[in-house]
Amino acid sequence: MQGWKIGKVFGITIEIHFTWLIIFGLILSVVTQEIGQTAPDASRASLWATAIITTLLFFVCLVLHELAHSVMANRLGAGVSRITLFVFGGVSQLKNEPDSPASEFKVAIVGPLTSIILAGLFYAIYLGLNGLGVSSVWVLAANWVARINLALAIFNMLPGFPLDGGRVLRSILWSAWNSLDRATRVAANVGQAFGYILVGLGFLMIISGNWGGLWPVALGWLLASAAAGSYQRVQLQQALGDVYVHDLMSSPVRTIPAQVTLAQAAYDHFMAARFTAFAVEQEGAIVGMIRMEQFQPIPRERWEHTTVAEVMEPLDPETMLVNSDKMAVDAMMQMAEHDLGRLLVTDHSGNIIGIISSSDVRRLVRVKSGLGM
Ligand SMILES: [Zn+2]
Repeated sequence: MQGWKIGKVFGITIEIHFTWLIIFGLILSVVTQEIGQTAPDASRASLWATAIITTLLFFVCLVLHELAHSVMANRLGAGVSRITLFVFGGVSQLKNEPDSPASEFKVAIVGPLTSIILAGLFYAIYLGLNGLGVSSVWVLAANWVARINLALAIFNMLPGFPLDGGRVLRSILWSAWNSLDRATRVAANVGQAFGYILVGLGFLMIISGNWGGLWPVALGWLLASAAAGSYQRVQLQQALGDVYVHDLMSSPVRTIPAQVTLAQAAYDHFMAARFTAFAVEQEGAIVGMIRMEQFQPIPRERWEHTTVAEVMEPLDPETMLVNSDKMAVDAMMQMAEHDLGRLLVTDHSGNIIGIISSSDVRRLVRVKSGLGM
């Protein structure tokens, strides 16, 4: 997931995914409405000022929650380098899965603990402001930030993987059973179950005429699919071990000029090199990919008159590129998510330096399991 970089704290880059703007708008509208109702005599300008500051405070609290995870993970050697805030909250991108139940527990629990401490802090501020007789909009704002932090802590402590509470559950099961795989499977099943329960509750709300039920439906659906996805990822990660994209890529990328015909491409490139896919090059830049299967819908007699550029898949940097320093498991998840068999590999400057295919990754899994490694 790519986002806009907004800053760097403790060596950790903080990014906002564009979907976060949706939640920003939503919170802003809820806050203005709520504060407006309780303080109807407040001026429009002070109402908006309070709402914007409250929303920004919530944003800071969310970043602090994620930073707590990341700083703890880095202290335990997991190597978090980036936090991305997206529509349903934040994700800290851990390079490795935690190596022991104890470190998993510590990394997971600090997030909700931070939110609870922040809730207490803002509640104290609320009481203080109330006692001082400050303008009622600020009193409400402090109360609102306290409540939203508490809600964040409670939601994240639901014991379903990959939520924080699910990670806590997994660490406990992992230490009890001594099997990461079994612990992940159970915690992910609980995560899926909670997801479906939320979806069900949301539908009940919608049926009874409350459109606010769309939120539990969306959250539940996301949780259920994230739980299923994380389990697949953990299984694959275990099978692969610490293998990176640069370990498995083929380099350099074999290319076909965009203007050659399919007939030339078939004989001079596909048959000659016995490759099933090529990058397509135009004026020195890679502009797409062409696979064997893309020839099939074109009748053979038209191969002389159709160029590679006409049938190739144009380059989509969001889905078709992967950095060479990413873990092989992440490249696999990216291919599965976008239904691709191959990704182009880039270096730090964004130059395309290789290609990785899902069959390369699967072959390694087969060899490893065949050798019992
Ligand atoms: Zn968290």
